[in-house]
Amino acid sequence: MSAKFTGFRTLDVRFPTSKELDGSDAMNVDPDYSAAYLVLETDAADGLEGHGFVFTIGRGNDVQRAAIEALSGYVLGRDVDAVLDDLGGMWRELVYDAQLRWLGPEKGVMHMAIGAVVNALWDLRAKREGMPLWQLLGGLSPEQIVDLVDFRYLTDALTPDEALELLRAAEPGRAQRSAALQEHGYPGYTTSPGWLGYSDEKLEHLAKEAVAQGFTQIKLKVGADIDDDIRRFALARSVVGDGIRIAVDANQRWDVREAVDAIERLAPFDPWWVEEPTAPDDVLAHSAIRRRVSPVRIATGEHAHSRVLVKQLLQAEAIDVLQLDSTRVAGVNENIAILLLAAKFGIPVCPHAGGVGLCELVQHLAMFDYVAVSGTLADRNIEYVDHLHEHFLDPVRIVDGAYAAPSAPGFSAQMHAKSLTRYGFPDGEAWKEAP
Ligand SMILES: [Mg+2]
Repeated sequence: MSAKFTGFRTLDVRFPTSKELDGSDAMNVDPDYSAAYLVLETDAADGLEGHGFVFTIGRGNDVQRAAIEALSGYVLGRDVDAVLDDLGGMWRELVYDAQLRWLGPEKGVMHMAIGAVVNALWDLRAKREGMPLWQLLGGLSPEQIVDLVDFRYLTDALTPDEALELLRAAEPGRAQRSAALQEHGYPGYTTSPGWLGYSDEKLEHLAKEAVAQGFTQIKLKVGADIDDDIRRFALARSVVGDGIRIAVDANQRWDVREAVDAIERLAPFDPWWVEEPTAPDDVLAHSAIRRRVSPVRIATGEHAHSRVLVKQLLQAEAIDVLQLDSTRVAGVNENIAILLLAAKFGIPVCPHAGGVGLCELVQHLAMFDYVAVSGTLADRNIEYVDHLHEHFLDPVRIVDGAYAAPSAPGFSAQMHAKSLTRYGFPDGEAWKEAP
């Protein structure tokens, strides 16, 4: 008897993080970190579930949840093996829905909803195969990986044959790199000290702590007030010394001229990169800023809504660092396309994380990239924020400033049942206690 999908449960989960100003930046001043959460159930005897979610920052999480719910018909009643054996085909079905596609196309709430479904399917597949997702993906043949990617709109920058060539070139060292990951992990950097709403004392204390934990890079939020930014940067530099990289993140705050002026004032303090200087899908503005502030490096990508926008950022030589996000695009498959594009253009990927569960998910993509795509750790690291990990069954583990390679089967996406209940919005206990 082949198993069928029998359950498609969506949940609105929110954490009242705005109380402490955790996650506060120049644009997002009071986020309540949230997840529009999906549980896929089957009638298989193994009892395994697929978990996936979209990260949001509070209001609108209900809208995101409704968008996920709109996709239930693509899953319920389907044969589990048939779906999981052809996740490239499933991705195309979801993205090319003849009516829902109007709500993007391939951007925003509906596209992210597809990401939750696709990621939950990958979680289930990895659990069924008894492997962490990074290892499952890193064990696929180049042909199987290329088959997961939709190359429509990409071939002017990357063809399936070129992707195959890249993946074949990285094949020989796979086992060695996989073993290295299990021994040393994947480098991380931390944003924990740098939230805009934190006092100088808290910044100083957390910056010291980051260095003590083995991180060699921290990140500060900037963009609200340039004099204040410079003061905080100087303070952080005096605490961590010259050997630690300090990146800054403006969270989309500036126009082109403002960005250039601000970056010129920050440049003497040696920022490792300047992140999201302006509107996240303004390719030409990023390109203009980058040309004018070079050699200061420009980073973006956490709000890049699709592989097509990433392609343009790369073609326009608008960025030095690509910061893909695990729940901004349509799931694992689209992020594989993005990793392949970055490898083709030789741009390092330093994934965005933090939020709820973004560290848990994105570590798998970065590790897969190292094993099977770019094959290098040069100038690469994954953002880390020490926040909300306790709600996950298989939380990230940081050892000496590096992400330890996950070993539990799945995508590390599953939250504890009691967290899902307690932080359920609006009826969970946590929200009854909140003012
Ligand atoms: Mg950022």
